[in-house]
Amino acid sequence: MRLTEANAGSDASHLESWAQRQPDGSYVLNGEKRWIGNGSKDVLCTFAGSDQGHIALILERGMEGFEAAERYDTLGLQGNDLRRLRFRDVRIPKDNVLGEPGDGFKIAMHTLNSGRISLATGAVGGAKRLIAMAIEHTSERKQFGRPLADFELVEDKIGWMVSYLYGLEAMTYLTTGLVDAGVRDYAVESAMVKVAGSEYLWYSTNRVFQLLGGAAYMADSPIAKILRDTRILPIFEGANDVLRAFIALSGLKTVADEVPDLRRLNLTDPIRTIGTVAEYVVGRITRTVRPHKLDPVHPTLHAPAGAVADQTARLRATTEKLLRIHGREVEQRQRQQKRIAHAATDIYAQIATLSRTTALFEDQGVEASGQERYIATSFCERAAKRVDNQLDRVDDNDDKRLHFIARLAYNRAGYTPGRSS
Ligand SMILES: Cc1cc2nc3c(=O)[nH]c(=O)nc-3n(C[C@H](O)[C@H](O)[C@H](O)COP(=O)(O)OP(=O)(O)OC[C@H]3O[C@@H](n4cnc5c(N)ncnc54)[C@H](O)[C@@H]3O)c2cc1C
Repeated sequence: MRLTEANAGSDASHLESWAQRQPDGSYVLNGEKRWIGNGSKDVLCTFAGSDQGHIALILERGMEGFEAAERYDTLGLQGNDLRRLRFRDVRIPKDNVLGEPGDGFKIAMHTLNSGRISLATGAVGGAKRLIAMAIEHTSERKQFGRPLADFELVEDKIGWMVSYLYGLEAMTYLTTGLVDAGVRDYAVESAMVKVAGSEYLWYSTNRVFQLLGGAAYMADSPIAKILRDTRILPIFEGANDVLRAFIALSGLKTVADEVPDLRRLNLTDPIRTIGTVAEYVVGRITRTVRPHKLDPVHPTLHAPAGAVADQTARLRATTEKLLRIHGREVEQRQRQQKRIAHAATDIYAQIATLSRTTALFEDQGVEASGQERYIATSFCERAAKRVDNQLDRVDDNDDKRLHFIARLAYNRAGYTPGRSS
């Protein structure tokens, strides 16, 4: 993806690079991109504004005026050849336009969807390695006369990592399964797995770092490299807070469109990037989180499946309530959006987990898959509690106080409460 510019980061629709259409149908491209992965490749695709809307253009090394400039020195991901790209009157033949002029933003977003899924599946692989490292170390290292692994707070960390990983892996299977099945629009699902995967990997890295003790802090330790490499994941391919808003607004829009007296809200054009993307995702949250999806669940999993159906109904009712209270203003209510996004993601994760475990039972039998049932049930129970907690906080929260505290801090330009004498 060759998208980011100095003034177009999370707000990727705000591109300043410009492709000027010429009488012969070619384009002349001017502008600059920064932080472009593998930017010195022979052929790459970039995005710019044009009088026909956003446009995707194929660039070839050697084109006059096109320069893959300096390589950035980064905290981690040293294998990524991260570059600045400069375009000075680069003439691009019309055959090098990817798709139709005006489709550039759609193409960019579609590419990001795949990137988000890859990031999440990568997080699954990375977490497996982290768990193995933690078990190896805590089994061998003894303190207070016992292996570290025997302490309850060590078990807690490993148990949490394994249990959440089962749910995350199930989400990635379900999402890649949607793609394999030919579903064209998987923007919401890929956003959900990206946020869940990147945050889980970061928190797992932090836990394993803790378990490895002081050795982890040595600059050449493998976990130090993992820490440096993983920190970018919640930032690139869509910053997680922006994706949370996107997930929530997609669901809110679906409900607004379905409920007759909410249609007048017309959330078709919410906020630039998020709004543009939301057009792709109408109907997706309902399709993926509707209870009827759970019908074929294995009989031994009826209890957690019933709980998911209840959570889905509650999520929908809460969504509708938020729309009635805030109207179009809901687009600005990010604290509430975050709760909706977390609840929706945890519901999706439970559906994925139950569907994965059902498939396993059908394949290997319930007895042989006892361990998986145990892990799946505990994942679902924990996720259900998180959903309840998020939806409880829609009404019962201290949002106003945090708003005022933050504004006060802005006014004082930092933390400067008065001192008592
Ligand atoms: C190692 C690396 C590799 C990269 N590779 C590529 C690449 O190959 N191609 C490419 O095009 N780009 C690439 N990028 C750029 C990357 O996609 C951007 O850094 C990312 O999109 C975020 O943009 P930004 O850094 O300008 O942050 P900003 O947009 O300034 O956002 C900073 C923070 O502000 C907050 N924020 C922003 N908007 C909102 C909002 N609406 N609501 C609430 N909070 C918000 C979020 O916490 C966000 O993390 C790469 C970056 C790095 C560091």
